[in-house]
This record gives sequence, C-alpha cells and structure tokens, in this order.
Amino acid sequence: MPQVRVYNLGYDPDTGIGELLHTTTVRHAFGMIRREVAIPVELTMLDERIVPTALELTRELSGAWVEGAGRRSVGFSFRAVHERDHWTCAYCGRSVSRTPACEALLATVDHIQPVSRGGMSSWTNLVSACKECNNRKADRTPVEAGMPLRFEPYDPALSYRVGGHVEDLPILVSA
Ligand SMILES: [Zn+2]
Repeated sequence: MPQVRVYNLGYDPDTGIGELLHTTTVRHAFGMIRREVAIPVELTMLDERIVPTALELTRELSGAWVEGAGRRSVGFSFRAVHERDHWTCAYCGRSVSRTPACEALLATVDHIQPVSRGGMSSWTNLVSACKECNNRKADRTPVEAGMPLRFEPYDPALSYRVGGHVEDLPILVSA
C-alpha cells in the first residue's frame, strides 16, 4: 500500500507547495477524512478504488496543539491511559467505565508485558482493558493469551490534536 502524505492547512495543489507533516497509511487517511480532520487533495486509482495520496488538514496544526513537544512524556496517569484509548478495551473493543453497568466492564489498565515479567508502567506498555479481559489475560503476553491488541498504544508526546481528535504521528512535529 502506498503512503499518504499529510500536509498542514494551506497546501497549494497547483504548485504542490505545503508543509509536509508526516505520511500515513491509506486506511488511517480514510479515517481522518471520515472524521473531517483532513480532506484529500490528491487522488489515485489503486485496485479499481480511488484512494488519496495526499491530505490537507482542515485545521492548522500549530505548536499549541502539539502535546508534550520537547518533553519525554505528558501527564501520565491511569486516567490519561483511558482517555487516550477512548475508554475502550484494547482486547475486546467494548466500552469500559469506572461505574459500569456490569462488573466485567470495569475500567482497568493492563500491562501488555506483565509487570511480573519486567513490563514497565509506560505509555506504550499500558492499555485500557475491561476487568474481564484483564483477568483472562492475567500474567501473560497478548501472544501467549491469544488476545491480540485491537490498537497500538502510543506516547501522546508523539501525537497531536486536530479538531478534538488525537492523531498518531510517526514523527515529532517541531512546534
Ligand atoms: Zn475486554
């Protein structure tokens, strides 16, 4: 699959001049278009589908929106992990809550690599999990437990917020 270039607001399609922020996958690009975070500015045909090859953000990305730029991490807490994961269990995809309708959906934070096996409490080793999945996984890795992650955890210092949505960013944007 080709990579899609993501430009800051202000891309000029006639000259191709714009501020290139990063590249992303076609799948992620469609997600950004659907959430109206970005619009396609360049399209191509691929396997009889029209796919974007370049996007332009619908709102300008400025330094103010770069979370934790220049810092190693942003305000780390279990609550922040849930916020990042949109209160969604990384294993079953169900919504978790601190006051769930049933105990199985109680919001817990899972160490992907268990603490007992040297796993750290870091952004990239923690995900939201429902109590049921957390108990089932126990002291095993996702592979051992046969419970693949539905999304990859990331450090919010490597992300930016556009129109209220947090987007993964493979590279740091200089503020
Ligand atoms: Zn779950």
